[in-house]
Amino acid sequence: MKKILISLSLVGIFWLAGPASTVAAAPCLIVTLTGTQGGPSVFNGLAGSGTLVRYGDDSNDCGAVRLQFDAGRGTSMRLSQLGVTPAQINAVFFTHMHSDHADGFADLVQVRWHFSAKAPKLDMVCSADQPSPQGYGVSCSKFAAHIADAYLKSGEIAQRYSEDKTRPEGGPAALINTIAFEPKDEPQQVWSSGDVKVSAIRSTHIPGHASYRVDTPAGSVVIGGDAGNDVFAPPRTSSTSDQVEKLAKGADVIVHSAIHPVMAPDKGSGMPPPFYFRQSTSADLGAMAKRAGAKHLMLTHLIPPLGAKQQGPYKLPGGALTEADYRKSAQEGGFAGNIIVGTDLVSVRLPAK
Ligand SMILES: [Zn+2]
Repeated sequence: MKKILISLSLVGIFWLAGPASTVAAAPCLIVTLTGTQGGPSVFNGLAGSGTLVRYGDDSNDCGAVRLQFDAGRGTSMRLSQLGVTPAQINAVFFTHMHSDHADGFADLVQVRWHFSAKAPKLDMVCSADQPSPQGYGVSCSKFAAHIADAYLKSGEIAQRYSEDKTRPEGGPAALINTIAFEPKDEPQQVWSSGDVKVSAIRSTHIPGHASYRVDTPAGSVVIGGDAGNDVFAPPRTSSTSDQVEKLAKGADVIVHSAIHPVMAPDKGSGMPPPFYFRQSTSADLGAMAKRAGAKHLMLTHLIPPLGAKQQGPYKLPGGALTEADYRKSAQEGGFAGNIIVGTDLVSVRLPAK
């Protein structure tokens, strides 16, 4: 009888502990811009394009799952400012194979190879190889396979391997698990872990460009990348992508590269029209965010960066732009929600704290 009482009281304790811990651990999502530089140029210490999406609950500071979208210059440095190590990243997703979105990846996987070779392989999610009408091919899988070739050729990988043979002899590429998908005009799920689901859609910029959506119980975020409209130049209804808009329907947060209309070919910046037309303008993004019903619009990859007198070689006709200039432009597009003009490490948390 005594035994039965003890087990009953234990059941009671567990029964009480169960619901209480569920209430305490409310799900949460944090979207952080790890780099906001627009294009391959360097300005004022801005890191290259990237967005970190963290999901979890209050008990782990929303950090049970950590997904990196693009990994431009300086990504691992920005992650270190957030207390996130390369080994803690579950997956890296690439919108496209332009160096301003990818050149921090070599560093990230090299550090992982150095210090965390026994961590699970890093999922790298991207489009399958894409041909172009001009005859060149774009290949994310080759990018991954050759990510550390310079360090293999220089002898560094062999030298460090000789010091610590728990590292794969093949170098950082051996720690990458490439997940390539065929980009389509409808959303398709490309990755998942527990409650976190990531879907992708084809979008226009260069061959193989894709945009992503992360859905979690705490909310959803769309990462547009450098997407533009399939109609490459005016006349067209918008510079934004119809597919991204479809993907973004009902999303809480939209993160998107933005070009300010002052760079337009008729405004005197001298930027070649194809460079201008393949990006989405801040005004058109404001209009798209409104139509999609988003609550937060995070403008990133700003062309030009805040405070810059020129974008690479192209001068700004009316001088440097401010945060207010981008905000006003997105508002003119009709968006009345929360506009974040991207600076490195700015975050949105769902739910807000
Ligand atoms: Zn770019």
